[in-house]
Amino acid sequence: MFGLMQDRPLMIASIITHAARQHAKAEVVSKNIDGTIHRSNYAETERRARRLARALIALGIKAEDRVATLALNSYRHLELYYAISGMGAICHTINPRLAADDVSYIVNHAEDRIIFIDGVFAPVIAAVAPLIGKTVRAIVIMGNRAQIPALNLPAGMDLLCYEDLIDGADENYVWPEFDERSAASLCYTSGTTGRPKGVLYSHRSTLLHALAVNVGDVIGIRAVDRILPVVPMFHVNAWGIPYSAPMAGAALIMPGRHLDGASIAGLFNGERVTISCGVPTVWLGLLQHLRSSGERIDTIRRLTVGGSAVPRSMTEAFGTEYGVELGQGWGMTEMSPVGTYCQPNAANAHLTGDELLRLKEKQGRALWGVEMRIVGDDGAALPWDGVAFGLLQVRGPWICSAYFGDAPGSALDAEGWFSTGDIATIDADGFMEITDRAKDVIKSGGEWISSVQLENIAAGHPDIAEAAIIAARHAKWDERPLLIVTAKPGHEIDKAAVLDVFTGKVASWWRPDDVLVVSELPHTGTGKVHKMILREKYRDHLVDKG
Ligand code: ADP
Repeated sequence: MFGLMQDRPLMIASIITHAARQHAKAEVVSKNIDGTIHRSNYAETERRARRLARALIALGIKAEDRVATLALNSYRHLELYYAISGMGAICHTINPRLAADDVSYIVNHAEDRIIFIDGVFAPVIAAVAPLIGKTVRAIVIMGNRAQIPALNLPAGMDLLCYEDLIDGADENYVWPEFDERSAASLCYTSGTTGRPKGVLYSHRSTLLHALAVNVGDVIGIRAVDRILPVVPMFHVNAWGIPYSAPMAGAALIMPGRHLDGASIAGLFNGERVTISCGVPTVWLGLLQHLRSSGERIDTIRRLTVGGSAVPRSMTEAFGTEYGVELGQGWGMTEMSPVGTYCQPNAANAHLTGDELLRLKEKQGRALWGVEMRIVGDDGAALPWDGVAFGLLQVRGPWICSAYFGDAPGSALDAEGWFSTGDIATIDADGFMEITDRAKDVIKSGGEWISSVQLENIAAGHPDIAEAAIIAARHAKWDERPLLIVTAKPGHEIDKAAVLDVFTGKVASWWRPDDVLVVSELPHTGTGKVHKMILREKYRDHLVDKG
């Protein structure tokens, strides 16, 4: 017997129609490329998205067509999210930080028909235009006529203007309803190893994920909040915030291209931001700015951080120096992306001080909707004792089952588990802690050393700005940890003092064999330290040193 409840499909358009009706005046604020501020709201966003949907239809876009964006966080990008998915097409966000070769590969693999771009990314399109003519019919500049850059496109590929499209379309459009399992958006992994792979989100997965990240123990957005996603809309839908903020009715503050500490702090204070989300490097930049300028961020009640491990020293600094709670989440492109979040539960609600900081080093407990387990080399599940570590696997309604173009289910094992590629422990209270990405683990004399744990300790040293540990080749032990660091502005690094910070914190054989001081660490397109580049460069450092 089925329940007798209304079988209404979970549609992305329903988020923006809800926000337009219930939270019409909630602001959408964007910092433009030229530094000026643009103000809109959810009623206006929905109205313009309707016009845009009409314009897409006029351009020949049909359900399931891929319409791409190459754009920063802005009100126009938000309008595109809703117009494209809302009309039944697929919003393919492209990461402009990828190499041109990867961009053309992705566009061709996705068979994009139109690409909407911020004018600043015209050089990216200029580089790939001759290679993407098979399916791409038009490039649309997200601006007005005066903002159209000079761009030579091959025959058959038009150069169009976003505001002209909106002006030329009427808003008499009714959002269609269709199967909630239909594809809504597409994002490619950044492919630090091998070619990028496409993750195809559905309307249903997107709405369930948006609801799940909105609970109090995760991002917990309320209608009176003003949230600034530093995480980009061009990668994993900015952690779903462009959906969960209008769902909650919170104001959205879009930072555009200005992501340095001073610009972020300026927006926080100027726009009275209460919540923000970013990767650790962004918060590191903010912290450095706050410390050197003396500026405060008193409207912020929660900073959310994820994408790579969060050093304890950073959580402590924001808490004690600025009274701001830094909450860590974990996830991946294949998981929409959020899988876990670290907030105390009944088992550890009493923790304070050092014990609470230790808990907050963990990536946290699974959100409802995400099942997780760790398995050993033989595939058998390992105990949740906080000690046993193995490959982390996940299952759930917003986790991918196959990559775009592959057969449904092909990314899963026989029991439906997706292997994350992360190595983790899970403690008795359900808190997961990443010890490494499988490919970054250090195997010294057959024993594993956690690079994440060593990096975390190194990041606590007062002279170190950023730290990375890589596996360097070693004649006797196969691999040994090598620490590569950058110094805080105005600080000198004393190698012996740096190596001393590990004493008593880890087993003595975990201590890095050497410290390399560099002026800058390379980062991936998603803001993580690019360990592959470091490995290529410094893999033989210990062997060469003798
Ligand atoms: P890519 O950057 O390759 O596109 P994702 O953005 O999907 O990949 O990143 C997913 C990976 O990032 C995870 O598998 C994990 O290794 C790492 N990661 C994400 N959040 C955290 C975290 N809080 N702590 C440690 N690692 C994390």
